[in-house]
Amino acid sequence: MRSTRSPGHADGDDDVGGALLAAGLAGAAGLGLSLRFNWWRKKRPGTRILMYHQVGAPHSGSTLNKWRVEEEDFHWQLDALLRRGYRGAALGELLEAPSAERRRAVLTFDDGYRGVFERALPALLARGFSATVFVVADRIGGVNDWDGETPGEPLLSADEIRALHAAGVEIGSHGATHRALTRLSDGELSRELVGSRDTLERIVGAPVTSFCYPFGDFDDRVVEATRAAGYRAATVSRGGISKDLSDPFRLKRISERGTNSRLDFTLALTRGRSRL
Ligand SMILES: [Zn+2]
Repeated sequence: MRSTRSPGHADGDDDVGGALLAAGLAGAAGLGLSLRFNWWRKKRPGTRILMYHQVGAPHSGSTLNKWRVEEEDFHWQLDALLRRGYRGAALGELLEAPSAERRRAVLTFDDGYRGVFERALPALLARGFSATVFVVADRIGGVNDWDGETPGEPLLSADEIRALHAAGVEIGSHGATHRALTRLSDGELSRELVGSRDTLERIVGAPVTSFCYPFGDFDDRVVEATRAAGYRAATVSRGGISKDLSDPFRLKRISERGTNSRLDFTLALTRGRSRL
């Protein structure tokens, strides 16, 4: 996690005028930087839905690195939620009971990486949190081949998906093959939506009602097909906080990246986005 600091001061100024000028410039640059953060915006009401991908250390040369939140940072973030009175929850839970005594932050994990089972699940269970994991149904036990990365990031096995479900984590669908849905024919779209749901329901032995659009790619036709396929809600990748649950097939999320600082996390949680 990066610390947020203002740009460094100029070195080597040995006359007072130069030092003052340098300090003034650095101060102006520092102010410019701090205004880029949304601390001055009003806190937003609405449902907090956090978007994670992988929990774990970066690998050299991996394009997934921007989406890896290191384990230590993930623990800090869950504790920050607790301190603010939130319980981590699954998306389905929120739809079944929209109001609850305790504040809830929905935690979502895209793509179904094995690291979520190995590193995120123990952290969630230790705090009594739940979450939703969006699985790519035809890539179970495989790798994230849609990113064109070799050797690729290991994905959850069917046994690990069952174990997550048994631990109270909701299993949602992220399509059958992680294709951009707006480009598909009606038949292919149905296979991604209905086919993936059937596969996942067979594995967990329970209804699968939450969907996540691969690459955040959706339009009105995709939304209607998702609703018609029997899902109850779907998340997008657009950053922010949805005001309420009145449009459950276009739920915005707060994006959690490995490069975010603690300030980013806190500002995004309260304002929807941490920066301009
Ligand atoms: Zn994805």
